[in-house]
Amino acid sequence: MYNVSGQKCVGCALCVDNCPAEAISLEKGIAVIDQAACQECGTCAEVCIQGAIRDIDGAFLMAVGTDDDVHLKLDDHVGNSARFRLFQYADGALSYVETRKNPKFDEDESLQHGDPRKAQSVSAALKGIDALFGFRFGPNLPRLQANFACVAVRTTEINEALAIARRHINEILDNIEQDSDESLVIQ
Ligand code: SF4
Ligand code: SF4
Repeated sequence: MYNVSGQKCVGCALCVDNCPAEAISLEKGIAVIDQAACQECGTCAEVCIQGAIRDIDGAFLMAVGTDDDVHLKLDDHVGNSARFRLFQYADGALSYVETRKNPKFDEDESLQHGDPRKAQSVSAALKGIDALFGFRFGPNLPRLQANFACVAVRTTEINEALAIARRHINEILDNIEQDSDESLVIQ
């Protein structure tokens, strides 16, 4: 399915004018694709000079660090969350998959750049995920980013974080696919 990034779209209507299925309209100055009408021809992605439209193929798995299943881990970095709630993004929807415990690990806090064994422990618990969402990341961020996309979300509740993630799906997938060294901040 083709998806418009609300962050990148400037409302020029080039895609609207070139869609053979008349499946795109502007809503509040942002292009919106009627997925039921879309014929998946790819023309809109080709004509958009902002690179705001991309094909989202398949599903991806994201994890959110939490202590109470409602809020993101707020008082410490995401690697110290009690558990991780996993959600799958597929066909434009996010759905809950499972919760995984974060194994207790006493890291060596004296290490300036974080304890690599802690990063290994968290990465093992999150095997198979594509992106980790947290309010705060610690000094192990570069090590975690080597295993999955690390996304800092500037909100406190998981439901709000999921809503923000939906608005930034294109950027998150770009980060995952490009195997980027840089983490992402969304709000
Ligand atoms: S062509 Fe790109 S920037 Fe222009 S309205 Fe469509 S999505 Fe937005
Ligand atoms: S993929 Fe083709 S049919 Fe679908 S919205 Fe884009 S231009 Fe229209």
